Amino acid sequence: MKIAMIGTGYVGLVSGVCFSDFGHEVICVDKDPRKIEMLERGEVPIYEPGLDRLMNKNVEAGRLSFTLDLERAIDGAEAVFIAVGTPTRRGDGHADLTYVMAAAEEIAKAAKDYIVIVTKSTVPVGTNAKVRDVVAAANPDLDFDVASNPEFLREGAAIDDFMKPDRVVVGVETDRAAKVMEEIYRPLYLRDFPIVTTDLESAEMIKYAANAFLATKITFINEIAALCEKVGADVKAVSKGMGMDGRIGNKFLHAGPGYGGSCFPKDTKALARIGQEHAAPISIVETVIKVNEDVKRRMIDKLVDLCGGSFNGKTVAVLGVTFKPNTDDMRDAPSLTIVPSLVGGGARVRVCDPQGKREGEHLLPSVEWQDDPYAAAKDADLIVILTEWNEFRALDLDKIASGMKSAKMADLRNIYSADAAAEAGFVAYDSIGRVGLI
Ligand code: NAD
Repeated sequence: MKIAMIGTGYVGLVSGVCFSDFGHEVICVDKDPRKIEMLERGEVPIYEPGLDRLMNKNVEAGRLSFTLDLERAIDGAEAVFIAVGTPTRRGDGHADLTYVMAAAEEIAKAAKDYIVIVTKSTVPVGTNAKVRDVVAAANPDLDFDVASNPEFLREGAAIDDFMKPDRVVVGVETDRAAKVMEEIYRPLYLRDFPIVTTDLESAEMIKYAANAFLATKITFINEIAALCEKVGADVKAVSKGMGMDGRIGNKFLHAGPGYGGSCFPKDTKALARIGQEHAAPISIVETVIKVNEDVKRRMIDKLVDLCGGSFNGKTVAVLGVTFKPNTDDMRDAPSLTIVPSLVGGGARVRVCDPQGKREGEHLLPSVEWQDDPYAAAKDADLIVILTEWNEFRALDLDKIASGMKSAKMADLRNIYSADAAAEAGFVAYDSIGRVGLI
């Protein structure tokens, strides 16, 4: 089966590589010549564990290739996937569909034979119908169907998520399109995963509802954490006790510095906007968006307190700036709020992140980059753990504390404990939603 994939970002490239690994012939298209040149050299433009190996294996097997030429990519393809960005539109929170609609028009102009146009990008309800109308208007003679196939992979674990999904969601209007989609995902059937086949609108809604629910769950535990601090409870114990209830589940119940990343912030805003436009406001999600901003502000208050009321003249070491471990993605990361307030408050900021430097250098000006957490903490007044990379989970706390000017730690991922910090010589330790601090 021949498949074209438009967009070689976190979703398009992973999906294209995995489909080729299923045995399909895949051509990935991007508008960005720099990305295509890198991919043709066998280099992966993003950091995603295992992707370079799997990509090069399938290129060598002759099943995977890259091009700037959409017409060549869709020639003879049974399906073309749209996996371009849908960022927040400036000003109103709505998902910006410029890239999706541009891709739809380009497909319409280039396609000759029957093809299924599949939207993998996260798009508001009604977008697939719009894609159908745009294509039909641009090429009235084209025989085609549209399908919605939202993606649920997580950056950092993207290959595993794609290969072993909890479910695949497919929204279609015709049996013919359903058959093509079934054929594409057939190799996964061996693993007996569920495929949820719906209409277009429900498939589009599933993606937003799922992401908004997860963002709500994280925000819920973040607010419970703030209350734990006031009443003397330990949020880690609370999460554990809650999560053991099968109706609740233990995932997404880790208190932290607020959700970030390329999906939750923009998808919650887009869902809130869709609700408002249809006079069916999703007040709970509107509140989640607001509370998440409060959570990030509360983190800054913690850091100010640890610095004795002001950042001015202090040296602060920040460990981790990507929105989560195992990715280089910095989109809407909490670091983009927290680090500028440190710098703005007059602190000298040293930053260490295993993969964040390439993006972070543009996004976080006026900071000093260090490859080594111990060098970052040397002579610092405060160390802040912002992203729970494995590299920061087993630090030699004695070594960190003895190198610091004043050994104070803000552990915003609850990796360590007050006891361990005190034993290592820290004079102050704060974390999220826990008691027994120093
Ligand atoms: P991205 O910004 O990493 O990649 C998008 C790519 O599309 C870019 O390389 C861009 O150059 C390319 N592009 C844009 N217009 C094009 C065109 N007309 N022709 C060819 N290439 C074009 O985006 P992403 O993170 O991969 O997200 C893509 C979509 O998937 C979004 O809607 C996002 O919400 C959704 N999604 C993302 C994730 C994630 O973890 N990143 C997970 C699930 C769903």
